[in-house]
Amino acid sequence: MRQSLIVGNWKMTGTLAGSKQLAADIVAGLNQTDAEIAVCAPYVYLPEISQQIADSPLGLGSQNVADQKSGAYTGEIASSMLKEIGCDYAIVGHSERRSYYGDTNESVAERYCQALENDICPILCVGETLEQRESGDTFSVVKSQLDAVIERAGIASFVDAVIAYEPVWAIGTGKTASDDQAQEVHAYIRQLLAEKDAEIAGGMRILYGGSVKPANAKGLFAMADIDGGLVGGASLDAASFLAIYNAAA
Ligand code: PEP
Repeated sequence: MRQSLIVGNWKMTGTLAGSKQLAADIVAGLNQTDAEIAVCAPYVYLPEISQQIADSPLGLGSQNVADQKSGAYTGEIASSMLKEIGCDYAIVGHSERRSYYGDTNESVAERYCQALENDICPILCVGETLEQRESGDTFSVVKSQLDAVIERAGIASFVDAVIAYEPVWAIGTGKTASDDQAQEVHAYIRQLLAEKDAEIAGGMRILYGGSVKPANAKGLFAMADIDGGLVGGASLDAASFLAIYNAAA
């Protein structure tokens, strides 16, 4: 039985005071333990939020991690540093990183490995653009994103990872994939993993991301291969985020 997971991606939003208040409001509203929950805050807010939520069930993650261990990589944050301040998760390969900052399948695979080296659970994002979907390339794009990580890290590494299927056309657009559209790709991802290791595929948590809201969460989470959500916009409002979390219980 896979435990559902709901992860908030706060992106580059908010203030320190506002983020602490948001974390406090989320913690105050946690009243079930069926599903796991975490927030990925901006790097500079992580230390304070980590201290604040230390005794709560709310997990903490970063929105990226360096593809190198340490050294002369100006502006990067190593996974050992994230571990030191209490991160449990690191998003890797978010489509905004891939499209605006040049993250490639190969660099995403390195980031994934770096996270694992310090016992941080990578949340590996995969997903197609609208153009790729319309030209019938959804499965091949997702497969190449996944294959790069499997080749670099090995299928066994997925025991300690989470995958997020995030169709790029649904992120921040208000256009959610239908329950069936999302399920189709989730099932495909699970089948790809099963070709390598059926047990790992069966236990793999595959989150859906892309305009998840309280109104559509229940339908998505009811699908057989959808194990929770990676939530952007709706995670910035405690009531909405908690409603999504409760839909996963
Ligand atoms: C995201 O950024 O990962 C995301 C899914 O954003 P939104 O929920 O706003 O579409």
